[in-house]
Amino acid sequence: MSIQFGPEYVRAIAPYQGGKPIAEVAREFGLDEAKIIKLASNENPLGMPESARLAMQQAVADIGRYPDANGFDLKAAITAKYDVPAEWITLGNGSNDILELAAHAFVQPGQAVMYSQYSFLVYALAAQAIGARAIVVKAKDYGHDLEAMAQAITDDTRLIFIANPNNPTGTFIPAAELEAFLGRVPPQVVVVLDEAYNEYLPAELQYDAIAWVRQYPNLLVSRTMSKAYGLAGLRIGFGIAQPAVTDLLNRIRQPFNVNSLAQAAAVAALNDKEFLQRSAQINAEGYRQFTQTFDELGLEYVPSFGNFVLVKVGDDEAAGARVNLALLKQGIIVRPVANYGLPQWLRITIGLPHENAAFIEALKKLLA
Ligand SMILES: *Cc1c(COP(=O)(O)O)cnc(C)c1O
Repeated sequence: MSIQFGPEYVRAIAPYQGGKPIAEVAREFGLDEAKIIKLASNENPLGMPESARLAMQQAVADIGRYPDANGFDLKAAITAKYDVPAEWITLGNGSNDILELAAHAFVQPGQAVMYSQYSFLVYALAAQAIGARAIVVKAKDYGHDLEAMAQAITDDTRLIFIANPNNPTGTFIPAAELEAFLGRVPPQVVVVLDEAYNEYLPAELQYDAIAWVRQYPNLLVSRTMSKAYGLAGLRIGFGIAQPAVTDLLNRIRQPFNVNSLAQAAAVAALNDKEFLQRSAQINAEGYRQFTQTFDELGLEYVPSFGNFVLVKVGDDEAAGARVNLALLKQGIIVRPVANYGLPQWLRITIGLPHENAAFIEALKKLLA
């Protein structure tokens, strides 16, 4: 008998399946890398902001040295933008890092972590990795059912993950509902409000989560530079919470968890309003392009508030896999979501107009 290493709860973890890298699809299907279109990982189709590229080029000169473990300049930029003290900020190697740190910091093995059905897979992974018990609350219209979540809180619940907007479904919880929910969560339960797609929200839906952080010592707001800011490859995100929460996160994070190029690029990107605006605009245009097509084709989709759309491509359990494979053969990478329990659906990241058009053309041919 071979030796089994590690605890059972670690062995039970299913590996995270990300969007297929372009080079891998080129190899597998014998395609030209330059012609492949990737609409699979909710990356910014504009790539990185020029301001971030310049900042990184300057920071490269110092790469022989360790990064600033306290991220002074980046925290100063966040402080200026969001009007929170530096002591309220945790920098992360992607916001994924913040999510995992929260699980490690606030939950013991056997205690409960809560999240919604069809919410970000990393929540399940973070809970499993620490041997926590998961409370998965059934979704309502593919989004969070906050009433059911409030009622499902147990004595041993220590952490609740909420994504707003949610990935992979794109649903959005209006501010008033979220605020009412926060008021119902017991004070010993930490709520992670994961706002990875916040920058795509139109002005009329924006809300002041930082004001809630001031009001609720158990609230941790998480933001990423991977989506609208176009820095996914650098791995940089941050959390904002009062010191009682932030102190613990900072104690268990790796001292140099955010590299110096990422810190420099993030400072530049945070202040690049023009880039953010352009990203949101191109996203809104692409969303119309997609949803008009889905309406024409009579395909069901979930109205999205992020930079992607979840669309139902067939009625049988193999529909998502089948359409995905057919698209891959034509060099178009999208995201199957069977691992989220949505085998009839695909998640399509909104790209540049010509990328969206290529996807639309391929989809129309496939479904004809
Ligand atoms: C993409 C995403 C993240 C995190 O991405 P990082 O690159 O790790 O910052 C977090 N939450 C949700 C819901 C996401 O979709």
